[in-house]
Amino acid sequence: MEKSQNWNDWRWQLRNRIRTPEGIKSYFKNLTEDELKGLETTVREFPIATTPYYLSLADREDPNCPIRKQIVPTYSEINPNKQVYCDPNALNEEEEIAHLTHRYPDRALITFTTMCPVYCRHCMRKRKVGKPERVISEEEFKPIYDYIKKNSQIREVLISGGDPLVLSNEKLFHYVEKLKSIDHIEVVRIGTRTPVILPQRFYDEDLLKFLEKYSPIWIVTHFNHPKEITKEVETAIRNIRKTGNPVLNQTVLLKGINDNPTILEELFRKLLKIGVKPYYLFHCDPIYGVVHFRTSIEEGLKIYARLRGRLSGLAQPIYALDLPEGKGKVPLCPQYLLKKVGNRYYFRNYLGEVIVYEL
Ligand SMILES: *Cc1c(COP(=O)(O)O)cnc(C)c1O
Ligand code: SF4
Repeated sequence: MEKSQNWNDWRWQLRNRIRTPEGIKSYFKNLTEDELKGLETTVREFPIATTPYYLSLADREDPNCPIRKQIVPTYSEINPNKQVYCDPNALNEEEEIAHLTHRYPDRALITFTTMCPVYCRHCMRKRKVGKPERVISEEEFKPIYDYIKKNSQIREVLISGGDPLVLSNEKLFHYVEKLKSIDHIEVVRIGTRTPVILPQRFYDEDLLKFLEKYSPIWIVTHFNHPKEITKEVETAIRNIRKTGNPVLNQTVLLKGINDNPTILEELFRKLLKIGVKPYYLFHCDPIYGVVHFRTSIEEGLKIYARLRGRLSGLAQPIYALDLPEGKGKVPLCPQYLLKKVGNRYYFRNYLGEVIVYEL
């Protein structure tokens, strides 16, 4: 991919997104049957897009490239052989207030836009994102703001995907300032994939000044593979951290991309090294469009158990899944407490040894 002189300008990256099957076809050398058919059919149901930057990380030749698998549509997405789906976001349909999901008493989730710089093939919200691309208006923001203002049990506002950092600085600063001005809002969290797929967003001096002024804003991002951690990413993360804001990461466990303890170990180590705390490892939910990326819960637990003991505790995320119908997230944990006999507890440690702990 040619790196133009505007390569480091995030607005240029957004304006020059690759959004058509032709654009994808002209980059990759040997597209598979599944990909070619996906470019004809799947794109009608689920949009495609990538930034030139993220596309440039993909291997032109290798269909197993983990970047390529996250951006090139396949026929497998819409041909899932009658599997059963649940949709953890289904409750959104019954939102009382558009673009606001208030599931847990103390935190509310807002979406400012349906647009993302990249449409991830594994996206759990793929029925919603990008169809069409739009940003909420001041009129739509008003009821969200009023609701949060009058519900004082809400301590945290989570601004999530579509990607809030596609908003212009002006709009983004305005909405975040309004939310931060509410007395009972103690925490603002921004869920954004831009550090991964558009790190140039954090070369923007005005954004960095804003982040510094309103620190702490918890930035939660979404790296899935060590290949995503580039020089550009290191710069972006360093810039965010200089503004005094914590950066956390959510990974989705994806078949054929990162369902392997060696890959995850490398990913979490690299994240820790650049100052990003692995927060969640999400099990891939049975949602229409992503079922071909799923592992079983047993496989997931096996991979997760391998990380314990091999990796610093700081690099350990919580493995979790999202229950259907908005019933919340539950952590998945290998069984370490095997049994209790009298006052003796039998534990399995990270080496697989059974150790007795006596009260
Ligand atoms: C995931 C989620 C949250 C945040 O959950 P945490 O466990 O605090 O990260 C909040 N609201 C909704 C609707 C969610 O899906
Ligand atoms: S950035 Fe997030 S919300 Fe947007 S397509 Fe990717 S996974 Fe979905």
